Formats: sequence, C-alpha cells, structure tokens
Amino acid sequence: MTTQKHRVVVIGSGFGGLFGTKALRRSDVEITMIAKTTHHLFQPLLYQVATGILSEGEIAPPTREVLSRQRNAKVLLGEVTDIDLEAQKVTSHVLGRETVTEYDSLIVAAGAGQSYFGNDHFAEHAPGMKNIDDALELRGRIFGAFELAEIGASRGEDVDHLLTFVVVGAGPTGVEMAGQIAELAHRTLRRDFRAINTQSARVVLVDAAPQVLPPFGAQLGAKAKKELEKLGVEVVLNAMVTSLDERGLDMKHKDGRTERLEAVTKIWAAGVQASPLGKLLADQTGAPLDRAGRIGVNPDLTLPGHPEVFVVGDMISLDHLPGVAQVAIQGAKYAAKEIDGRLKGKPAQAPFKYFDKGSMAIISRFRAVAMVGKVRLTGTVAWLMWLGVHLVYITGFKNRVTALLHWAVSFLGTGRSERTATEQQIFGRNALARLEGGASDLVSPPGEYDSSREEGQRREELEAVAAEEARLTDANERGVKVRA
Ligand SMILES: Cc1cc2nc3c(=O)[nH]c(=O)nc-3n(C[C@H](O)[C@H](O)[C@H](O)COP(=O)(O)OP(=O)(O)OC[C@H]3O[C@@H](n4cnc5c(N)ncnc54)[C@H](O)[C@@H]3O)c2cc1C
Repeated sequence: MTTQKHRVVVIGSGFGGLFGTKALRRSDVEITMIAKTTHHLFQPLLYQVATGILSEGEIAPPTREVLSRQRNAKVLLGEVTDIDLEAQKVTSHVLGRETVTEYDSLIVAAGAGQSYFGNDHFAEHAPGMKNIDDALELRGRIFGAFELAEIGASRGEDVDHLLTFVVVGAGPTGVEMAGQIAELAHRTLRRDFRAINTQSARVVLVDAAPQVLPPFGAQLGAKAKKELEKLGVEVVLNAMVTSLDERGLDMKHKDGRTERLEAVTKIWAAGVQASPLGKLLADQTGAPLDRAGRIGVNPDLTLPGHPEVFVVGDMISLDHLPGVAQVAIQGAKYAAKEIDGRLKGKPAQAPFKYFDKGSMAIISRFRAVAMVGKVRLTGTVAWLMWLGVHLVYITGFKNRVTALLHWAVSFLGTGRSERTATEQQIFGRNALARLEGGASDLVSPPGEYDSSREEGQRREELEAVAAEEARLTDANERGVKVRA
C-alpha cells in the first residue's frame, strides 16, 4: 500500500521560489516548482549583462540543474494562468500546452514586473530591466547605438541623439546602469571607434524624486549623486517623463518647464508592478491589493481563509517590507518551515519577522554605497563589501569563478567579456508582441505536427549529399591537385 506524500507547489524560480524549494529538501513532501523561465535569475546583476560585463549564464543557471540532487523536487516549465483556491489546483501553460497541478500546500513567489505608471506604450522604446531578455535587448541597443553613431559620423551626420543614453529612475538599478554606461563610453570603448569619440557620449539619469537612491537616506543619496557626476553622468532630479518615442523623450520639471532629450537609447528603471497572480488571489480571498498590485497577507504570510497558501517576496504588501531579495528568501524559508512543522505536528511559528542584512548599490568600479544597520559605508570599502556579498549569493561554484574572472577583466582591466549582441536580441521582443498569440503563433499546437510530410523526399536528398561528401574525401578529390 502506498500513501500519497504531501504535495507542495511552488510558483516561481526566483529568490522566493528557489530558496523555498531548497528549504524543503529534507521534508517528507513532493514539490513541483512551476516557473515561466527555465532558469533561476539573480536580478541584482542584470545590469552587468546589459553592459557586457557578465554573460547571461553566469547570473541565470538552469533551475533543473540547481535542483538536480534534490530528489523530492521536480521542475515544470509554464506560465501560471490560474490558481483555483477551492479546488487547490494550479493551471499553467507553455506554447499551447496546458498542465493542471494539484497541491496540498502552495507557495506563490511570482515576483514583480516593470511598471510604466499607466504608460505601457513607453515599453516599446524604453525596455525595463527585469529579465534576461530585457538585459540582452539593452546590451544590443547600447552597443548598437555606438555602431550607428560611427556610421552616421563617418557620413558627416549629427549623431548626438545616438550618443545620448537616458536612464529613467534613480533607484539602485538606475544608478548602477547609468554608472556602467558612463564607464563603457568613457573608458571601455574609447579606442574602438574611428569616426566618433565615445568619451563625448552623454549619460543622463532622470528621476521625478528630489534625490538619488531615496531608500538609502539623504546623506548616501547625495554621495551617490556626487560620485555619478564625477563619472560624467548628468543627474536630472524633480523631472517627470511625460512622453517617450523612438527618437527621445519629454520631461516636465517641478517648476513647470518642459524639456526634450533627443536620445535613441532609453532604459526604464522606474517602478514595479507585482505579478497579476496577486489580483487573481485577491479576487478569491478578499485580501487587499496596494497600488503596485501587491497583495496584503496575514502576519504568517498566508492568505485570509487559506492557511495552506503562502505568498512571499515582491508580491506581498506587509509592514512596508522592501522589494529586495532577502525579504523573498527569508519569507520563503519561513513558509517552508511552517509547512514542514505542520506535517510534524509542531505548533505554528511566531509571525514572520524580516531581518534586514543591509542594502548596497554600486556606482562604478571601486565605488559603492552601503547601509548595514546604522552604519553607512561609501567608496572602496562599500565596493569590496558589494563584491563579497554578490559572490556568495551567485548560484553555483562555476558561476562564481567565471564571474570573478569577468570582474577582473572589467574592473582591473578596461575590457568587457560579453559584448556580443544580435539583431534578434534588439528586435525580437517587439516583433513577438506584434503576434496575437505571441510565440504560440509560431509553433504547431500539440499533436498537430505531421512528421511524415516531405520526410521521404528530404531524407533521400540528405543521404545523397552525405554520400557525395564521403566519396569526395575517400577519393581524395577535394581542392586543386598540383603535380610536382
Ligand atoms: C534589476 C534589478 C536589480 C535588483 N537589485 C537588487 C539588489 O541589489 N539587492 C536586492 O536585495 N534586491 C535587488 N533586486 C530585487 C530582487 O531581485 C527581488 O526583490 C527578488 O528577486 C524578489 O524575489 P521573488 O522571488 O519575489 O521574485 P523573482 O525573483 O522576481 O522571481 C519571480 C519568479 O516567478 C516567475 N513567474 C512570474 N510570473 C509567473 C507566472 N505567472 N507563472 C510562472 N512563473 C512566474 C518568474 O519567472 C520568476 O522565476 C533587484 C531587482 C531588479 C529587477
């Protein structure tokens, strides 16, 4: 006789999803992790993929590989489109294939996406920085802008709009992005072009707030602004982006002035919107949603009336917790411990309490700002701390070693190891968005592909080509023979 194990479904393979799954490795449960990407993404280093320092593989290892030794966990690719709390079922889809997975306990860690504050059309010309596609698209756009500027300048055209890079949003991502583009233009690329002087490139960081890095406080914000300006970044505060198009953007200053910036490359690093799964859960439970779509959870991270459902990370609104990796990691570990404890008949834990390990943002090589408790650090000390912390949290030994090598290339030397960019990276997202059903429009529905179609004829052709290739080699008939 077999008894079914307790089934845990985890939605998401980010910080919450992965750490929650790992925390259950010794529990007597069957875990199914469902995520819409096949990798675990280390979002804090996305900007380094976008600016050619790291490869995407270094910050996004396959979740399947990471969990390969965890026998009680399996990984399922799919975008969750429905959660039925009454029936305890999760429905997911990938390329027209539907899967329904039943659960006894559920951990929802679907994170957050970019918010354009109601101006979703800005996305076409100003990609956000939320996933690997975004980072690779931005890499292509940034390096591509220098290429187009070189062509334009060699024809005597004005290329200022190509050599102006605007980053919208002066939070950690915006600051890191602006700093890296400035280093790229002023240091890395300085010798690579003939018709343009990359050092004349303008990097503008725009924010509607009156300071840089507001969550770091006024003092560190002012320090970060000064460091950015030293790097050559123009910091424009109290300015709201009011419209944005292929060629540039318009801003409105606090004093009512309007200003146009001609810039082909724009990066959107302002605002987040929680996963739409938050609304789906709120509609079924009556839990509140805040303006960013985050769902209000009980102090033990469960949903009202559903103690078997935990929501963690960027999706939740609880005690003004910030949208940072540690909130997701600690929340997921808490949920896993509760699930395990219930199975062992242990009493419920005390409400979830977040332990703030500190925050940091890198500005350029050897320059960062950090906040640990009441301690404020700047400069090289903060940068070394940033280096250590990120090395510890990058998943996998192999990735740590290669990241370290790439950092040496970029920070000690002037190079960037990952400058490869393709046309598909730049235009793929917008091209897919024009298809009604997205990528599903490009593949046959399951069961509809007729493999016998044209197979006979193609097989004969391929066999003939292979036979001729082998005959040419065996008969020594390749190339021109020179008689002595
Ligand atoms: C550019 C950037 C830089 C950052 N820098 C820092 C930093 O320096 N320090 C810090 O602490 N935090 C940083 N953060 C924030 C941090 O990355 C997040 O707080 C953290 O990732 C949240 O974890 P999560 O598990 O809630 O969501 P995520 O890590 O975002 O994971 C969400 C997962 O859910 C999956 N998913 C989403 N929707 C669905 C669906 N419908 N079906 C199936 N799967 C789905 C996604 O594919 C993903 O696997 C940064 C974030 C960004 C974007």
